[in-house]
Amino acid sequence: MADTPRPRPNTTYSAPVMSVDLFAEGYEIWPCHDCMPWHAEVIQDDSGDVFVREWHAAECPTLAQVLAEVDAEIKRLENG
Ligand SMILES: [Zn+2]
Repeated sequence: MADTPRPRPNTTYSAPVMSVDLFAEGYEIWPCHDCMPWHAEVIQDDSGDVFVREWHAAECPTLAQVLAEVDAEIKRLENG
């Protein structure tokens, strides 16, 4: 039985995008090597904290990795 090729994620320039907010303190901004629509913006929330908001293709593997890291950090902070 032949292996079924896995569908490649849509990371083309016109792919749908998603964002993740990261604390801006000491954060270096580098373009994503896995998707073409990547871009970033600096935002400030209502409390004055500054974040870097990264936009990636919704199916970008780097975005999935960053979101998993953010979730792990949130769980770590919630568990003290
Ligand atoms: Zn990306």
